[in-house]
Amino acid sequence: MRRPAEPESIMTDATLTLVCPACGTINRIPAARVGASPRCGTCHAAIYTGHPVDVNAAGFDRHVKHDQVPVLVDVWAPWCGPCRTMEPTFIEAARRLEPAFRLLKLNADDAPEILGRYGIRSIPTLLLFDHGLLRAQQAGAAPADRIVSWARARSAATA
Ligand SMILES: [Zn+2]
Repeated sequence: MRRPAEPESIMTDATLTLVCPACGTINRIPAARVGASPRCGTCHAAIYTGHPVDVNAAGFDRHVKHDQVPVLVDVWAPWCGPCRTMEPTFIEAARRLEPAFRLLKLNADDAPEILGRYGIRSIPTLLLFDHGLLRAQQAGAAPADRIVSWARARSAATA
């Protein structure tokens, strides 16, 4: 099924909005500066830490809605063996995908309504969003190479 055509992005020229992982402020960053270790205008924390951001349900919604880069989410739980196996893999993926992507970790136990919203029945599950819209979803652990190429391919396919 083809997606309906999207209007030309009005965000590609000047600035991107990015949520601060530390305080939740929505920062407006010049697109050319996104790769230059930008800091939050409110709390001065790094916008990108080279590490997935742990979020609760509210933080998930805030990042997915306001981050104007693709958002890749690892839905996991502390009791899930394959999820813990994937932990260093997802950190590696963050190192390779930032700042073109924002990577989040969402504890499934804290966000039952989000699991329901996306029909998640098993974890780990990866969710890929772009400008608030779910672009792709995949269950099961995967090596870093596959996560990176999957995220790039699925987000590029929408460009
Ligand atoms: Zn901040």
